[in-house]
Amino acid sequence: MITESIVDPDVDVICCWGGCGERFVDADKVTYQKHLLLHGVRTFGQTITICKWIDPENGEECGKPLQMQSMLKHVCGRTHVNLLSKMCPLCKRDQARGSNIHRHWLSCIFFIELDEEEQKRLWSEYSKKPFDWYLEQQETRGVIPSSSRT
Ligand SMILES: [Zn+2]
Ligand SMILES: [Zn+2]
Ligand SMILES: [Zn+2]
Repeated sequence: MITESIVDPDVDVICCWGGCGERFVDADKVTYQKHLLLHGVRTFGQTITICKWIDPENGEECGKPLQMQSMLKHVCGRTHVNLLSKMCPLCKRDQARGSNIHRHWLSCIFFIELDEEEQKRLWSEYSKKPFDWYLEQQETRGVIPSSSRT
């Protein structure tokens, strides 16, 4: 049972399957999928399984009966960890799907070209990390922030 609800901007996914509580920093779908295997969640099979995801807010089990082959999509989707919706809205590249959007944006040409206001707006919508993280990363990579351009 998870009772803590620490807000940590570096933690992207907390597995709540059966109250697991394992944290994944910068997790992508593949990493998380491997972890879910430990809980017996597989990508195939028609056995009806109950979703054991425990809502960290109220401690209630999801309890949704699903075929095993749909379970991964259910857990990784909007209902729980929300890993699938992180596709880049700018370039809509499949490569960005399921990976962390903020990492992708460090090199996404469409994002880099936006003015800072627009970057911040998108950032707050898609990433839990502070926008400063992006600026720091770009600085270490030698990318000039759009605010400093003339
Ligand atoms: Zn877990
Ligand atoms: Zn569920
Ligand atoms: Zn992109």
